[in-house]
Amino acid sequence: MEPGTEFRVPSPSPVFNLRPRIWETVSSCFGFIPQVVLALPYDTPVPGYMNNTVNTMRLWSARAPNDFNLRDFNVGDYIQAVLDRNLAENISRVLYPNDNVAIQLNDTHPSLAIPELMRIFVDIEKLPWSKAWDITRKTFAYTNHTVLPEALERWPVELVEKLLPRHLQIIYEINQKHLDKIAALFPKDVDRLRRMSLIEEEGGKRINMAHLCIVGSHAVNGVAKIHSDILKTQVFKDFSELEPDKFQNKTNGITPRRWLLLCNPGLAELIAEKIGEAYVKDLSQLTRLHGFLGDDVFLREIAKVKQENKLKFSQFLEKEYKVKINPSSMFDVHVKRIHEYKRQLLNCLHVVTMYNRIKKDPKKSFVPRTVIIGGKAAPGYYMAKMIIKLITSVAAVVNNDPVVGSKLKVIFLENYRVSLAEKVIPATDLSEQISTAGTEASGTGNMKFMLNGALTIGTMDGANVEMAEEAGEENLFIFGMRIDDVAALDKKGYVAKEYYEALPELKLAVDQIDKGFFSPKQPDLFKDLVNMLFYHDRFKVFADYEAYVKCQEKVSQLYMNPKAWNMMVLKNIAASGKFSSDRTIKEYARDIWNVEPSDLKISLSSEASNGVNKADRK
Ligand SMILES: *Cc1c(COP(=O)(O)O)cnc(C)c1O
Repeated sequence: MEPGTEFRVPSPSPVFNLRPRIWETVSSCFGFIPQVVLALPYDTPVPGYMNNTVNTMRLWSARAPNDFNLRDFNVGDYIQAVLDRNLAENISRVLYPNDNVAIQLNDTHPSLAIPELMRIFVDIEKLPWSKAWDITRKTFAYTNHTVLPEALERWPVELVEKLLPRHLQIIYEINQKHLDKIAALFPKDVDRLRRMSLIEEEGGKRINMAHLCIVGSHAVNGVAKIHSDILKTQVFKDFSELEPDKFQNKTNGITPRRWLLLCNPGLAELIAEKIGEAYVKDLSQLTRLHGFLGDDVFLREIAKVKQENKLKFSQFLEKEYKVKINPSSMFDVHVKRIHEYKRQLLNCLHVVTMYNRIKKDPKKSFVPRTVIIGGKAAPGYYMAKMIIKLITSVAAVVNNDPVVGSKLKVIFLENYRVSLAEKVIPATDLSEQISTAGTEASGTGNMKFMLNGALTIGTMDGANVEMAEEAGEENLFIFGMRIDDVAALDKKGYVAKEYYEALPELKLAVDQIDKGFFSPKQPDLFKDLVNMLFYHDRFKVFADYEAYVKCQEKVSQLYMNPKAWNMMVLKNIAASGKFSSDRTIKEYARDIWNVEPSDLKISLSSEASNGVNKADRK
């Protein structure tokens, strides 16, 4: 099998069979017709890297049962036999998690697992509530992934009452005990009870799923230091006052196998020539590259690999999308979901500013750039779609202006996905990580670029803060408001017009967008977008414009000095070891799941090569 081949296979042990007869009974009790769903398991093998271990990832697909004739499938009563055995075994396997099973809630999406486990314990196993609650809390832990309020799930009580009445009762019971505890600790603090309740009353009753997850878990974590601090001091302040030890940080990471070995074999080999191959399993060993900062040949070899990756990506773009780019220009890359908080608009205003500067003085020297912006917009997110429309409209003008020539090109990468990320990241010179401080929980794109020898232009947000800590702030292009500046500006009141009036280049760019310079056939195409920037920009694009443009000038200056640029690249690669997901997972295992790494002895005996997987465990 080719490395990186993806495959999914239906599991040989289907687990389903919700008998319609039972559902008829259920529907007569609750007065609605429930839907019968086939749960089809898909098993994906996840091979470890050279450790004789293959884990199974099981994902479930919900299927309508009528496209699937059970009788045809049930030759020799295979299914019933498997069901009788497996179902019983599986249920008993998860019934007593006690302290040797951990369920990590990856965001609030699986939060109903908490009342469901309580239901199984209390209703079916007849455990007393307190015992059930004790096991449940020891079982669950919750990872928060965002502080944006619109992304925090709050499901209407009315809906849950209709679909899952017993689970709602259990949630109410959990809440009652939770509020009793708070009332005892903070007598007469009615507002605190309102703030911490699992049930929100304003504007129709809703269940706050994050609150349910916090209360039902023994550990809660954010995904970068700054984010975990915001959770403790702002978003979940009341909860961390109640149970300070529950709150932790687990800074995200990326796997160096996919995001270096597989996607950038040239760079991986170059590194191995200097420090051996052990870094692949222990990324912290990359610090040993510091010893080669004075090795000019090595620096040039790193630059050569980057140039080859850029050439290869240019050829890919030309073949697949019929666009021609200048492979010796700086590849300035901003790829991630399209969202206002990630500020693709700030990048766009910089592009327009560069364009206006070239037009104003075409003879002036200019460091050529290819600005690549890529990402998907959620189907119902109007403003994200307008942002894409603006990028492609600006690209159409800039890319076809003969005065600009090959100095500046703008590419919008459609259908951005992992397989495309694997191609563009190794070819990137400059990584754009420019979210408003305090809005990006961690980011992982930032880490992939750092490991692949791109320099970062970024705000002090998410994991950028820790990247600057590891590499030294002077080795990133850090600009703009810090989290305290954002808070101060909020207090004072952000008035976008003030920046627009004070900064002529910003005014020019905004006026061009507003007046249809980039959309001559539809002059008012961007009126909603411009209106947002002026009157309800929660992410304060104009406030960081000046610092961003100045910082980009520094980037261009450094790019003209290849030796200094390459040294900074090497310092970044050498400092990227912290951002391995191996480190992240070890921290989850130690601090949340309470499990020890298993000490695998790799057996290279003939049985292993015969396909008998013989991993000796101490
Ligand atoms: C890594 C990755 C992301 C996350 O990028 P951020 O810059 O951290 O938002 C999103 N999409 C794809 C395809 C990725 O590979």
